[in-house]
Parts: sequence; structure tokens; C-alpha cells
Amino acid sequence: MADVSWIELSRSALQKNIRFLHKLIGKQAAFCSVIKGNAYGHGIEQFVPLVETFGVRRFAVFNAAEARRVHASGTKHSRIMIMGALSADELDWVMKNDISFYIFELDRLKAALQIHKKFKFKARIHLELETGLHRMGLYPRELEKALAIITANPEAFILEGVCTHYAGAESISNHLRIQNQIANYHEMLAKVNRTGLSPKYRHTACSAAVLNYPETILDMVRFGIAQYGYWPTRETRMRYMLQTGKAENKRFRDPLKRIITWKSRVMNIQEVDPGEFVGYGTVFQTGRRSQIAAVPVGYALGFSRLLSNRGHVLICGHRAGVIGIVNMNMLLVDVTNIHRIRVGDEVVLIGKQKNHTITVSSFSEMSEGLNYEILVRLPSDIPRYVVE
Ligand SMILES: *Cc1c(COP(=O)(O)O)cnc(C)c1O
Repeated sequence: MADVSWIELSRSALQKNIRFLHKLIGKQAAFCSVIKGNAYGHGIEQFVPLVETFGVRRFAVFNAAEARRVHASGTKHSRIMIMGALSADELDWVMKNDISFYIFELDRLKAALQIHKKFKFKARIHLELETGLHRMGLYPRELEKALAIITANPEAFILEGVCTHYAGAESISNHLRIQNQIANYHEMLAKVNRTGLSPKYRHTACSAAVLNYPETILDMVRFGIAQYGYWPTRETRMRYMLQTGKAENKRFRDPLKRIITWKSRVMNIQEVDPGEFVGYGTVFQTGRRSQIAAVPVGYALGFSRLLSNRGHVLICGHRAGVIGIVNMNMLLVDVTNIHRIRVGDEVVLIGKQKNHTITVSSFSEMSEGLNYEILVRLPSDIPRYVVE
């Protein structure tokens, strides 16, 4: 491979995740794959066709630009749902292509009605209810107005969903708030039902809600982080282990498998005498005769300068420390103890090699690194390939 660095997506790991998550939600609930943020860094163009091969047909994105990318890379059978930003001039393309979208304020509903009147396209809508996150969503008074518009124009709207989003279902510290949200959701849903409208999908659960509040599963779930093989938090993982009696098991086999491996190759190897400074400035000085390898990945590709002198990579099945300052386009690694190393050897920046793993969170400069944030920051111009 000629790429200086690339990302591999494991088909078998994804298959295991999808199977495990399907088991969690049962046969009744639909699986919606959340692929905002460039499929959490995995690459929309690679991830969508891959997950489609496991029967997933529903995709949730944040904005119209992402919807266009799914539209171009998915099969004709897949359905797209826009959960966030959508400008008035994108709405006719969205409606024309049968893409569904959230309604969290009345203006968007009115704009959709105008487009229906002009072009006759129907609006597939999901009413997003404000239940306590206080981010987006219809308050009870707005919901009443929305329902009046929808029931007065039945030819214009397909009420595909009624939904909400929880304010931190991954942590027990939010328990009361989540309970209130669940109650508020059902109260507002009853209001919808009283108008005679019946949404096809009642959906509220993200990955953490499925795991911690199975009663939130309803007709559809929106799986983001878990499908990519990460627990929303360590706490969620621990709760799962306790509930399934696996916490005592030293050989706990994680049902969630990471899909991503980020790789590069050794570009150069140098012998350096003891007492020499290596790289820019005086950050690292050799204490012995050393072998230093250069890897063509730097902060331009998202390998943070904060990992200077403290990050690790995997080479020849060994962990090797990053030394000196991370440069724009390369980093240096001390490989003195790796005797078999050659230029061109594979370097793992995130993922597994032999018995070692660099996790996404350890890759981060923060100790409580948020997987979500690190994943979405993987630059979209790193090539992505599907492997077995
Ligand atoms: C991102 C997002 C999800 C998926 O959340 P995960 O924690 O990654 O499973 C679900 N619903 C909404 C509205 C979101 O924005």
C-alpha cells in the first residue's frame, strides 16, 4: 500500500457488534445506525455499504450534507433520517428524495407544508419532543400547534416518528433526570395518540439508554457508539458486566469489538549516539546508543502534539514510545529494543498488533478521553479500507 497512513475497518468485528446489539433490542425494534460525524470517524462512504451487508437499512445523520453522502453511497433500499441542521433551501431536495427529518420547531413544519403545496412531495417527519434535555424539541404548547397543522393537512405529512433524546443515560448520576424524561415522553406521546395520529416509530434510545434503560427501546433505537465497538462509558460496561453476572469472570470476553485500526509504516531508521538530542529542541536526549524510527504521521493527521514524549505505537508486536516533539508530518519512536525492525514495517497507531493494543482513549491526551471526540477527529482524508 502506498498510503503513508490508513485506517482499516474490520468487517468481522462489525458483524459481531451488530449481532450483539440485535440480541439486546429483540426482534420488535428497528435498528437505526447513527453515522453523524463521518460515521464517528469510520468514514460514511465505507461504513454505510459495509453495515448494509448485515441488513441495516436505516441511517441517522445530523445534517443534509451527510444525508447526501449516504444517499450517494448507500443502496436504494436504505432510509435516511436527518436529526439536526437543515436549511430551507435543502428541504425540497430532502422531501423529493423521501428523506425523513426531525421537527423541533414550527417554522420547519410550515416550510415543509409550503414545499408540499408547491411540488406535492410528502414530508416524512419525526416530531422531536422536549422532555428535559433542553437542547432541541417541541414543548407541549408547540406540540399542540404542530399536531393541529399535521391533522389539518394529512396529504402533506407522513408522521414517521415521535422521538426524544436523553440527557446522559450513560451515568447513574443522571438517573432521576432520565426517569422524568421517560415519563414526560409518554405523557406527550399520549397527546399525539389522542389526535388519532399513530407514528410508525416511537424512538428514544441511544446506545447507553438501550443498555441502562431497556424500557426505552420501543419501536426503534438509534445506535451510535456501540455499533462501532465502544461502550458509551466505562460505567455502562461495568453495569452490563454486573447485570449479566460477568463481573467476576476474569476472562470476560467483551461483546463489543473495535472496528478501527489506524496504521502507518516505518519510513526511516537511524542509529544515534548516547547523549544526543533527537528531533526539535532539547525535549529528548539519548541515554544510550539508540535506534530511532521515523513514522510519517504527525499532528496534521490528528496525532496530537500533546503526545510528544509520552504516546505509544506498536511495531513488530512491541510497544514503542514516542520520543521528542510530534511534528506536523512525522513522529519519532525509540526502537532500540526492537532488533528485527526494518523500513516499511507496519506501525499501529490505534488498534491491535499481536498481544498489544493502543485503545482510542489511551491515544487521547486526556486521561478520561472521550471516545466519541477522538474518533470524530480522525481526519476524513486518511484512506479507509474494509478488511476481514
Ligand atoms: C448521536 C446521537 C445518538 C447516538 O448516540 P450514541 O451514544 O452514540 O449511541 C442518538 N440520538 C441522537 C439524537 C444523537 O444525536
